[in-house]
Amino acid sequence: YPVAPKLLILCTISSGSLVAYSESQSDVSSPGVNANQIEHGKKRVVVLGTGWAGTSFLKDLDASLYDVQVVSPRNYFAFTPLLPSVTCGTVEARSIVEPVRNIIKKRTGEVRFFEAECVKIDSSNKKVICRSNFDDKALGNEEFCLEYDYLVIALGAQVNTFNTPGVKENCHFLKEVEDASKIRRSVIDCFEKASLPGLTEEEKRANLHFVIVGGGPTGVEFAAELHDFVEEDILKLYPGVKDLLKITVIQSGDHILNMFDERISSFAELKFGRDGIDVQTGCRVTSVSEKEITMKSKTNGQVYSIPHGLVVWSTGVGTRPVVKDFMDQIGQANRRILATDEWLQVKGCKNVYAIGDCASIDQPDVTDLLKDSEGKGRKEVDIEGFKSALSQVDSQRKSLPATAQVAAQQGSYLSRCFNRREHCEANPEGPRHFRSSGQHLFRPFQYKHFGQFAPLGGEQAAAELPGDWVSMGHSTQWLWYSVYASKQVSWRTRVLVVSDWTRKFIFGRDSSGI
Ligand code: FAD
Repeated sequence: YPVAPKLLILCTISSGSLVAYSESQSDVSSPGVNANQIEHGKKRVVVLGTGWAGTSFLKDLDASLYDVQVVSPRNYFAFTPLLPSVTCGTVEARSIVEPVRNIIKKRTGEVRFFEAECVKIDSSNKKVICRSNFDDKALGNEEFCLEYDYLVIALGAQVNTFNTPGVKENCHFLKEVEDASKIRRSVIDCFEKASLPGLTEEEKRANLHFVIVGGGPTGVEFAAELHDFVEEDILKLYPGVKDLLKITVIQSGDHILNMFDERISSFAELKFGRDGIDVQTGCRVTSVSEKEITMKSKTNGQVYSIPHGLVVWSTGVGTRPVVKDFMDQIGQANRRILATDEWLQVKGCKNVYAIGDCASIDQPDVTDLLKDSEGKGRKEVDIEGFKSALSQVDSQRKSLPATAQVAAQQGSYLSRCFNRREHCEANPEGPRHFRSSGQHLFRPFQYKHFGQFAPLGGEQAAAELPGDWVSMGHSTQWLWYSVYASKQVSWRTRVLVVSDWTRKFIFGRDSSGI
């Protein structure tokens, strides 16, 4: 196939045949994807992303009702809560991933998957432009376009570097499976480098200084994993390095795990203190070079640099460029994150839904209700609708956290709505909503919080459970094992993960770094 010289867009006409055109007006040919040929009469659903939100949507969707197409640059689902365990070989990377095709083949109806990246969402023309993952000229046009009737954006978020100089070049991130495998190799490399002849003690110390920027759950769990790995496995193999090794957690806030109950953050700080993990709070990293990390103390404004062997940057999430571009198009440029209503529909975009880390539910505006009531006269105000709306305002007031729990619940809520759309169009069920007249098709999304864990190493964990329950220690770690085993997406990964944990107990972790 000829290669497209410029941006290429392949679209269909309604009969389903492929028409090609390009922005540069050059002649192009089809990449061989008959993606826009639809099953007669079925509405087309395009799902972007196969993370927690996208997979949960697909798992529960009755695909026989729609013509479903999925686009993601990775053809697997990754169980992200176990990524820190992959960095030190407690669990193998392969054990926490499930091929998307395995997940979709179990659905009723056909779901088509394309390993590609969405590069543009064009909601005014109801299409998305995607670029294949393969840099293979022989495949022809690497860009193609999918038309949709309903679009589900489940693109997640990317690492937020806060534009700190040197972070992209010199830090590791912990977002994808590849990142975890890379960290695993780099940790071992630091020990091997420090064991080479001819290094001064100072150079050895620098190589063995592991710095974690960000004292949230991911950073803390990685620090704990690393500490356990070193204590339980590495020191036996590199006996000379014990006194040279250091793990530092840098946190800009006053405490680590500050989104948890303060009993948990104090417990974590005490435990880290006992384990010799240095926690530096109230410090903001200003730059990272190949050999040094520079930070500024918030209390006295002092700027200082420390040498490092490896830095893991784990400071929260930012918006992906494709989502940002879409937000600019739809008038949400001044927002940090894509806004949806309580039915997870993108504000101002009919039939476009956004779930997971890439979106947040915008607060219902009470003033709209008041205006509405003034317009109609008080008698006509739907009192029940008013009360229900106010309770929603209250329950969703705290914006939802960027967690797998939220993403999975949103995915499965949305698929239930899609499964019942036809029935609900005939029988709208939701409570009357104050911002619009009439009833809604579905009840709004309601998040149910089932608690959160923070593994702290040494077979201890902390958990914040619903109803202000806090649990800490060894028994919580066993709770963590059972919850995470049960939450696996398939029996295959469940067996693999449990056998990895068993292998670690019997033989320890593999320190080859492969
Ligand atoms: P993701 O799971 O990130 O999925 C995004 C999807 O979009 C991916 O498939 C990606 O390949 C795809 N994609 C990206 N760009 C494009 C594009 N241009 N076109 C098409 N597809 C694209 N949460 C918890 O609740 N508990 C935990 O213990 C926990 N631990 C975590 C540990 C780590 C190390 C990390 C990184 C996160 C953790 N989280 C945890 C948070 C949780 O992983 C996220 O909140 C969750 O992954 C969000 O789901 P999502 O579907 O929105 O995004």
